[in-house]
Amino acid sequence: MTFETLNAARVEAVWDALARHVQPAGHHEAPVRDALGHVLAEDAFSAHDFPPFDRAMMDGYAVRAGDFSDGAATLRRLDLVRAGAERLPRVEPGTCAQINTGAPIPPGADAVVMVEHSREVDDGGVELSDAPQPGQHIDSQGAHVRRGDRLVRAATRIGPGTLAALVAGGVVRVRVHDRPRVAILGTGDELVAGGEALRRGQIHDSNSVGLAQLVSAAGADPVRIGRCVDERGEQLEALRRGIDSDLLCVTGGMSKGSHDLVPALLEELGVQWLVTSLHMKPGKPLRIGRAPNGCWAVGLPGNPVSCMVCFLLFARCILDGLQGLAVGKPPHLNGRLEADLPACGGRPMYQPATWSVGADGCPYVSPVAWRGSGDPFGMAVANALIHRPQRAPAAFRGESVPFVPLDLPR
Ligand code: AMP
Ligand code: MG
Repeated sequence: MTFETLNAARVEAVWDALARHVQPAGHHEAPVRDALGHVLAEDAFSAHDFPPFDRAMMDGYAVRAGDFSDGAATLRRLDLVRAGAERLPRVEPGTCAQINTGAPIPPGADAVVMVEHSREVDDGGVELSDAPQPGQHIDSQGAHVRRGDRLVRAATRIGPGTLAALVAGGVVRVRVHDRPRVAILGTGDELVAGGEALRRGQIHDSNSVGLAQLVSAAGADPVRIGRCVDERGEQLEALRRGIDSDLLCVTGGMSKGSHDLVPALLEELGVQWLVTSLHMKPGKPLRIGRAPNGCWAVGLPGNPVSCMVCFLLFARCILDGLQGLAVGKPPHLNGRLEADLPACGGRPMYQPATWSVGADGCPYVSPVAWRGSGDPFGMAVANALIHRPQRAPAAFRGESVPFVPLDLPR
């Protein structure tokens, strides 16, 4: 497939293009217990009725509603029916069985009276002061779900509640999308691994570490293929290894510096560009393309804030699409500014911010202090990106501005 290449792309155009081109990767069948965090590739259906039998919803007495007259009855008490009981007494006229919540309704009974409305009387009898309608406090078989009903739709990410629902519905195996494998490569002569001592001129490769966490948080598996210096042979080799995955994220070396080799090397490996640069701040040197084997390649700026912002706004969309989720513009909320913002320049901005829910229940948003896209501390506490349209005038405390919350589940 050939792409129409977007140069100085508007953010909306990038989201639209990704929505058109990103297809789900493979899928596989997995035991339900291993499916947490995966996205369903097919609807999941209940294997049985739920509840699977008529059961008591209250602790009390299983009775025959017809035994009650004048709003009360005194009945002979049969054995207790516990949850999980297999042998059940028969409730004949004039009798009742003590029953616990979740226990099967014994044959003959058609209602449950709460223990609060009972009083023990002599000779094994019990006086019940609440005349029930038939069916009272009974959760009847299939009341929630019938065998074959759809429990969960395809394209749902399986969370703890989904998993519990699938187990309750007797589902044993599910078809889920494969977790995308994401190769992460940091490039630059100046980079050393986190924790290592720095010589003059060096910095720690913080991008690779942050990206690996973002990849995991997006439901994919990071594959660290290491770091490489700005040298043709080494980079080509590393990039070749990297495109043996579903998505390759390269950071650094994407711009127009004398040692920014990555775009040309990716082209040598057959990558076709969907995006060659972005009309946004931070993140101008973003590139998005696809290799002949279908692997997506995202060239992220080396500057730490640009790198993370571009991953969150664009690479994450690719990961959504590979997992069968909807691809497109990430959800924006409106929040009240807690500080003033200067006028925006000629490029639209997505700037790091924090958001929280105020005492009035409304979102509030506050820009974080950052000294430009090269400031690795700009994203340290950010959980939102404030959107500023190009040439937006200054915005003041109390005004409402759109922002992308970074902590919404997808
Ligand atoms: P580049 O995009 O290669 O021109 O790099 C732009 C800036 O980001 C430079 O100051 C780099 O040192 C810095 N940088 C590049 N890669 C990384 C990385 N993996 N971790 C942290 N900073 C980086
Ligand atoms: Mg560099």
